[in-house]
Amino acid sequence: MKTSFIITAMSFLAALVLFSSCAHGPASPKVDKWSFSERMLIRKQADKPMRVLTIADREDSLFLRKSAADLSAEMVGSRQYRKLSERMIATVTSPEQDGVGIAGPQVGIPRRIVAVQRFDKENEPFEVYPQIRITALRGERSLGWEGCLSVPDMRGEVLRYNDIDISYISPKTLRDTSETIKGFTAVIFQHECDHLDGILYTDYLDD
Ligand code: ZN
Repeated sequence: MKTSFIITAMSFLAALVLFSSCAHGPASPKVDKWSFSERMLIRKQADKPMRVLTIADREDSLFLRKSAADLSAEMVGSRQYRKLSERMIATVTSPEQDGVGIAGPQVGIPRRIVAVQRFDKENEPFEVYPQIRITALRGERSLGWEGCLSVPDMRGEVLRYNDIDISYISPKTLRDTSETIKGFTAVIFQHECDHLDGILYTDYLDD
Protein backbone atom coordinates (compact mmCIF):
# COMPACT_ATOMS: atom_id res chain seq x y z
CA MET A 1 0.00 0.00 0.00
CA LYS A 2 2.73 2.36 1.10
CA THR A 3 4.92 1.41 -1.89
CA SER A 4 2.17 2.02 -4.41
CA PHE A 5 1.51 5.43 -2.84
CA ILE A 6 5.19 6.31 -3.23
CA ILE A 7 5.17 5.14 -6.86
CA THR A 8 2.03 7.15 -7.59
CA ALA A 9 3.55 10.20 -5.93
CA MET A 10 6.77 9.77 -7.88
CA SER A 11 5.06 9.44 -11.25
CA PHE A 12 2.94 12.49 -10.44
CA LEU A 13 6.13 14.44 -9.71
CA ALA A 14 7.79 13.19 -12.89
CA ALA A 15 4.74 14.25 -14.92
CA LEU A 16 4.85 17.64 -13.25
CA VAL A 17 8.52 18.12 -14.12
CA LEU A 18 7.89 16.98 -17.69
CA PHE A 19 4.90 19.28 -18.03
CA SER A 20 6.65 22.34 -16.64
CA SER A 21 9.69 21.87 -18.88
CA CYS A 22 7.44 21.57 -21.93
CA ALA A 23 5.23 24.46 -20.94
CA HIS A 24 7.93 26.99 -21.81
CA GLY A 25 8.47 25.66 -25.33
CA PRO A 26 11.95 24.98 -26.68
CA ALA A 27 14.69 25.59 -24.10
CA SER A 28 16.65 28.82 -24.51
CA PRO A 29 20.29 28.38 -25.46
CA LYS A 30 22.73 27.53 -22.66
CA VAL A 31 24.96 30.29 -21.36
CA ASP A 32 28.23 28.44 -21.81
CA LYS A 33 27.80 26.71 -25.14
CA TRP A 34 26.77 27.41 -28.74
CA SER A 35 23.68 25.34 -29.52
CA PHE A 36 23.61 22.95 -32.46
CA SER A 37 21.32 25.27 -34.43
CA GLU A 38 23.58 28.27 -33.73
CA ARG A 39 26.64 26.33 -34.97
CA MET A 40 24.75 25.30 -38.12
CA LEU A 41 23.59 28.84 -38.82
CA ILE A 42 27.10 30.30 -38.31
CA ARG A 43 28.56 27.68 -40.67
CA LYS A 44 25.83 27.71 -43.32
CA GLN A 45 26.88 29.48 -46.56
CA ALA A 46 29.74 31.08 -44.62
CA ASP A 47 31.01 32.97 -47.67
CA LYS A 48 27.72 34.89 -47.93
CA PRO A 49 26.09 37.54 -45.72
CA MET A 50 23.60 36.10 -43.23
CA ARG A 51 19.86 36.34 -43.74
CA VAL A 52 18.40 39.31 -41.87
CA LEU A 53 15.14 38.59 -40.05
CA THR A 54 12.38 41.15 -40.65
CA ILE A 55 8.99 41.95 -39.16
CA ALA A 56 7.46 41.21 -42.59
CA ASP A 57 7.70 37.50 -41.69
CA ARG A 58 5.61 36.20 -38.78
CA GLU A 59 8.18 33.72 -37.44
CA ASP A 60 11.00 36.25 -37.76
CA SER A 61 8.83 38.76 -35.96
CA LEU A 62 8.31 36.45 -32.96
CA PHE A 63 12.04 35.62 -32.85
CA LEU A 64 12.94 39.34 -32.83
CA ARG A 65 10.76 39.79 -29.73
CA LYS A 66 12.66 37.27 -27.58
CA SER A 67 15.32 38.21 -25.04
CA ALA A 68 18.85 37.21 -26.03
CA ALA A 69 20.92 34.78 -23.94
CA ASP A 70 24.33 35.50 -22.40
CA LEU A 71 27.72 34.46 -23.83
CA SER A 72 30.57 33.09 -21.71
CA ALA A 73 34.22 34.16 -22.14
CA GLU A 74 34.88 30.64 -23.42
CA MET A 75 32.31 31.14 -26.18
CA VAL A 76 33.89 34.49 -27.10
CA GLY A 77 37.23 32.69 -27.44
CA SER A 78 35.78 30.08 -29.83
CA ARG A 79 36.13 29.85 -33.61
CA GLN A 80 32.32 30.04 -33.85
CA TYR A 81 32.53 33.49 -32.27
CA ARG A 82 35.20 34.65 -34.74
CA LYS A 83 33.18 33.38 -37.69
CA LEU A 84 29.95 34.93 -36.38
CA SER A 85 31.58 38.34 -35.80
CA GLU A 86 33.09 38.33 -39.31
CA ARG A 87 29.76 37.38 -40.79
CA MET A 88 27.75 39.96 -38.81
CA ILE A 89 30.08 42.68 -40.15
CA ALA A 90 29.86 41.24 -43.69
CA THR A 91 26.06 41.30 -43.37
CA VAL A 92 25.62 44.86 -42.04
CA THR A 93 28.14 46.26 -44.58
CA SER A 94 26.73 44.31 -47.56
CA PRO A 95 25.34 46.57 -50.33
CA GLU A 96 21.78 45.26 -49.79
CA GLN A 97 21.83 46.13 -46.05
CA ASP A 98 24.25 49.09 -45.78
CA GLY A 99 23.51 49.64 -42.08
CA VAL A 100 25.42 51.15 -39.15
CA GLY A 101 24.71 48.35 -36.67
CA ILE A 102 23.24 44.87 -36.29
CA ALA A 103 22.34 42.62 -33.34
CA GLY A 104 22.57 38.83 -32.94
CA PRO A 105 18.80 38.19 -33.02
CA GLN A 106 18.58 39.98 -36.39
CA VAL A 107 20.72 37.23 -37.96
CA GLY A 108 18.95 34.43 -36.06
CA ILE A 109 21.50 34.17 -33.20
CA PRO A 110 19.64 34.79 -29.89
CA ARG A 111 22.73 36.03 -28.00
CA ARG A 112 23.90 39.31 -26.42
CA ILE A 113 26.13 40.33 -29.33
CA VAL A 114 26.08 43.47 -31.53
CA ALA A 115 28.17 44.93 -34.35
CA VAL A 116 28.36 48.72 -34.33
CA GLN A 117 30.03 51.25 -36.61
CA ARG A 118 32.31 53.37 -34.41
CA PHE A 119 31.75 56.85 -35.86
CA ASP A 120 33.73 58.15 -32.87
CA LYS A 121 36.93 56.39 -34.02
CA GLU A 122 39.34 57.13 -36.84
CA ASN A 123 38.27 55.46 -40.12
CA GLU A 124 34.89 54.62 -38.51
CA PRO A 125 35.43 50.84 -38.17
CA PHE A 126 32.74 48.23 -37.47
CA GLU A 127 33.40 46.46 -34.18
CA VAL A 128 31.69 43.54 -32.45
CA TYR A 129 30.71 43.56 -28.76
CA PRO A 130 29.84 40.23 -27.08
CA GLN A 131 27.96 39.98 -23.77
CA ILE A 132 27.14 43.68 -24.03
CA ARG A 133 25.07 45.69 -21.56
CA ILE A 134 24.41 49.39 -21.17
CA THR A 135 25.37 50.19 -17.58
CA ALA A 136 24.72 53.97 -17.46
CA LEU A 137 22.71 56.58 -19.37
CA ARG A 138 23.59 60.23 -18.65
CA GLY A 139 22.29 63.73 -19.29
CA GLU A 140 19.54 64.84 -21.64
CA ARG A 141 18.00 62.83 -24.44
CA SER A 142 17.71 64.17 -27.99
CA LEU A 143 15.54 63.23 -30.96
CA GLY A 144 17.13 61.58 -33.98
CA TRP A 145 15.95 59.69 -37.07
CA GLU A 146 16.37 55.91 -37.02
CA GLY A 147 15.79 53.01 -39.34
CA CYS A 148 16.27 49.28 -38.82
CA LEU A 149 17.35 46.44 -41.11
CA SER A 150 14.54 44.35 -39.58
CA VAL A 151 11.86 47.01 -40.25
CA PRO A 152 12.13 47.63 -44.00
CA ASP A 153 11.08 50.88 -45.67
CA MET A 154 10.44 52.85 -42.49
CA ARG A 155 12.06 55.60 -40.44
CA GLY A 156 11.09 57.35 -37.25
CA GLU A 157 12.30 59.86 -34.66
CA VAL A 158 13.43 58.42 -31.33
CA LEU A 159 14.69 60.06 -28.11
CA ARG A 160 18.11 58.67 -27.08
CA TYR A 161 20.88 59.54 -24.66
CA ASN A 162 24.14 60.95 -26.06
CA ASP A 163 26.35 59.78 -23.21
CA ILE A 164 26.36 56.15 -22.05
CA ASP A 165 28.55 53.46 -20.46
CA ILE A 166 28.74 49.94 -21.86
CA SER A 167 30.22 46.72 -20.47
CA TYR A 168 31.21 43.70 -22.57
CA ILE A 169 33.70 40.84 -22.81
CA SER A 170 36.75 42.02 -24.76
CA PRO A 171 37.26 39.59 -27.68
CA LYS A 172 41.01 40.27 -27.36
CA THR A 173 41.57 39.70 -23.64
CA LEU A 174 38.34 37.75 -22.84
CA ARG A 175 38.00 39.98 -19.77
CA ASP A 176 35.08 42.16 -18.69
CA THR A 177 35.63 45.64 -20.08
CA SER A 178 33.76 48.92 -19.82
CA GLU A 179 33.76 52.05 -21.92
CA THR A 180 32.05 55.44 -22.18
CA ILE A 181 30.47 56.16 -25.57
CA LYS A 182 29.20 59.54 -26.76
CA GLY A 183 27.31 61.07 -29.66
CA PHE A 184 25.72 59.21 -32.59
CA THR A 185 27.69 56.03 -31.80
CA ALA A 186 25.95 55.96 -28.38
CA VAL A 187 22.59 56.12 -30.20
CA ILE A 188 23.53 53.08 -32.32
CA PHE A 189 24.54 51.12 -29.19
CA GLN A 190 21.14 51.89 -27.58
CA HIS A 191 19.25 50.80 -30.73
CA GLU A 192 21.25 47.54 -31.04
CA CYS A 193 21.08 46.70 -27.31
CA ASP A 194 17.30 47.16 -27.43
CA HIS A 195 17.21 44.28 -29.96
CA LEU A 196 18.75 42.03 -27.27
CA ASP A 197 15.72 42.71 -25.06
CA GLY A 198 13.25 42.16 -27.90
CA ILE A 199 12.61 45.90 -28.34
CA LEU A 200 12.30 47.57 -31.77
CA TYR A 201 12.67 51.34 -32.22
CA THR A 202 9.10 51.42 -33.58
CA ASP A 203 7.93 50.64 -29.99
CA TYR A 204 8.87 54.22 -29.09
CA LEU A 205 6.88 55.84 -31.90
CA ASP A 206 3.46 57.30 -31.11
CA ASP A 207 1.39 55.72 -33.87
ZN1 ZN B 1 17.51 47.55 -35.63
